[in-house]
Amino acid sequence: MTTQTNVLPPKPASAAGPALRPGVAPLTGAGATIKQITALVVMLVPLAGFALALQRALEGRMSTTDLVLFGVFYFLHMGGITMGFHRYLAHKTFNTSPFFEGLLLICGSMAAQGPIMFWVTTHRRHHTYSDQHGDPHSPNLHGPGLLGRLRGIWYAHMPWMLAKDVSGWNFFAPDILANRKLFFYHRTYGLWIVLGLALPAAIGGAVGGSWDAAFSGFLFGGLARIFLANQAAWCVGSVCHMIGGKPFKTDDNSANNWTVAILTFGEGLQNNHHAFPGSYRHGVKWWEPDLSGWLLAGFGKIGVVWNLRSPDEKAVAKMRAR
Ligand SMILES: [Zn+2]
Ligand SMILES: [Zn+2]
Repeated sequence: MTTQTNVLPPKPASAAGPALRPGVAPLTGAGATIKQITALVVMLVPLAGFALALQRALEGRMSTTDLVLFGVFYFLHMGGITMGFHRYLAHKTFNTSPFFEGLLLICGSMAAQGPIMFWVTTHRRHHTYSDQHGDPHSPNLHGPGLLGRLRGIWYAHMPWMLAKDVSGWNFFAPDILANRKLFFYHRTYGLWIVLGLALPAAIGGAVGGSWDAAFSGFLFGGLARIFLANQAAWCVGSVCHMIGGKPFKTDDNSANNWTVAILTFGEGLQNNHHAFPGSYRHGVKWWEPDLSGWLLAGFGKIGVVWNLRSPDEKAVAKMRAR
């Protein structure tokens, strides 16, 4: 499959419409300041770590252990977000044991993309208002022309996190709010971020036998991994609602972008996903790059997950673009 630039006309200008949509509330005062500072920390601290890691790599001070730690923690990070936060929690596309649920949600929390209530409410709001006023991160609401598209793709990539509004917990995620077992992972979010930084540091230090090796493990398996994996993940909201193939009829601008799909374990197949949000796999054809879908199918075969939901051929045919 090849990707193509989308040619839909731009949506109405301005992300800030006359009134907030149902489920979205304004954030003022200390609440807004806390949200914005947190967002800046999430954007800038991993960037600083990535810069230091890059410097070490360019100076030839990157060890094999650093590379392995980067790879392993990237896998846990992306697997936790895509299988845990997204396909399990936000869309309920399969069932699993409390143990595997915990593993997925702890790994997802290590991504520093926000605690589960933030993540799930933001994401369900994205589906509710996809590419319309109210979508927290649409690249298609920022004016016409090339400038509007560039402004949109930048806004949908990162600055959307600075918006002075909040997605309602009761409106978008009453099921998770009412589940004490799930809410535990929300309350302990900070702990898992620390674990995702401390573990690669400890492993790096133990293998390399020095504080410098521990610091290097912290950089490659921790901060640089968070930076690069989240840059890829945020492309799902920015690039994949603008650039890519659209095999299905959806009432938004979602697109399948293979480059992003490979980097995000299948999430870049946004057009497939918006056509079938309740499906555990984002690849409709088996060969579409969807590592998380392939893994979940495998986990299903050995009984780690069950009740995997996906559309039948009739439903797929019905949604095909003319
Ligand atoms: Zn989307
Ligand atoms: Zn989704």
